[in-house]
Amino acid sequence: MEQSKHSIPSYLNKEDVGPWGIFLEQIDRVTPHLGELSKWVDTLKHPKRTLIVDIPVELDNGEIAHFEGYRVQHNVALGPGKGGVRFHPDVELSEVMALSAWMSIKCAAVGVPFGGAKGGVRIDPKQYSQRELERVTRRYTAEVRPIIGPEHDIPAPDVNTNSQVMAWMMDTYAALNGTHDNGVVTGKPIELGGSLGREQSTGRGVFITACEAARELGLDLKGARICIQGFGNVGGVAAECFHEVGAKIIAVQDFSATLYDAEGLDIPALRAHCADNPHQGLAGYQEDKEIPAEQFWEIESDILVPAALEDQINRHNAPRIQTKILVEGANGPTTPAADDILTDKGVFIVPDVLANAGGVTVSYFEWVQNQNHYYWDEDTIYARLEEKLRTAYREISAVANEHQVSMRTAAYIQACTRILQVRALCGTFP
Ligand code: NAD
Repeated sequence: MEQSKHSIPSYLNKEDVGPWGIFLEQIDRVTPHLGELSKWVDTLKHPKRTLIVDIPVELDNGEIAHFEGYRVQHNVALGPGKGGVRFHPDVELSEVMALSAWMSIKCAAVGVPFGGAKGGVRIDPKQYSQRELERVTRRYTAEVRPIIGPEHDIPAPDVNTNSQVMAWMMDTYAALNGTHDNGVVTGKPIELGGSLGREQSTGRGVFITACEAARELGLDLKGARICIQGFGNVGGVAAECFHEVGAKIIAVQDFSATLYDAEGLDIPALRAHCADNPHQGLAGYQEDKEIPAEQFWEIESDILVPAALEDQINRHNAPRIQTKILVEGANGPTTPAADDILTDKGVFIVPDVLANAGGVTVSYFEWVQNQNHYYWDEDTIYARLEEKLRTAYREISAVANEHQVSMRTAAYIQACTRILQVRALCGTFP
């Protein structure tokens, strides 16, 4: 950790490094496994580009508001930067830096030829109208335009941004450049060059990597007991995939309720309930199936999928978890302390940088289609997604066996090796 302290950039608070400090600790953990490449490891402790912008916007009432915006490109050794744009009142530099670094690791770990980037605007979108959010998005795009582009850095949706926000970003970039570069963002509406299957891709990826883990551990998915936290895009699609192969989803939890049925919940009916009541969530489905939220973590299962928020599995609930396989659909759902507790208990963990990489994989497919002006059908996309993730899983599993480490450390070894090999080959310039 001492070396990390020396590496903290002057623009961060050394006393409270924030999420960037977690990333530095992860890099320190993997460094002993990097052999001669460890000479270059400090590359990963310095984001390549960090842009902070002021976004002045006229509000509907005529007042002028200023918002802070960020775009960080952590590493672009393997390709253009790739990463979402988050609208949230707590967005700050250290968080965007860490998120951009985790994108570098995710893309490199699964072999998607992108670097890592992330963006954000410090705003609570619930407080503003659609017209105001459009103005914020367009001005943010204009401000970060010097460093984004289909060959430079490709934003995508993240927390509180969606395909409409991507449409505004694409249009602003195209208007200012006088070109039709729809590959500047991914996660666009299909009509603007978005990819078929993008919506389902992350949940499907969770299922594909869970199948691989089950195969490795000799677990039959037919009849397997699954618990899923989060029933949105990732958790909901993953639940459907597990349901289709005959697994029993015995518990689901969202912000509104926790449902349990030892015989397996009716997933199509639950999905329909959530679609009919988008703001209500799981609550109101069948009250006799509701249990207290805290009990969710004690349910004995074969596979547990956290697919809601970060830090959900921590030192407090990890000792009570009884599952065989943990598949991290969310980003950062398990704290390092909980990771150690679960590993000691023999829980097999498929880390987030692999388990939820289906999203960035189909974003990559979207970008390839845009650059080629040639579009693939859904079956082709799903077949290529499956092939990419199964290959990534098996490669990371082989690294884990070779070094006798967890799948998380193996994913970091794989990713850091790929990035630093390029660094070593290119050397420094001048
Ligand atoms: P979403 O908004 O569609 O769904 C989030 C779900 O979590 C909802 O069901 C919500 O009710 C539930 N939730 C929120 N707070 C909760 C709480 N305190 N307790 C229990 N449940 C709670 O979001 P999503 O797109 O499904 O993303 C979920 C996670 O997956 C996030 O960590 C996200 O960063 C990660 N992720 C998403 C994608 C993607 O393509 N959508 C890709 C990679 C990673």
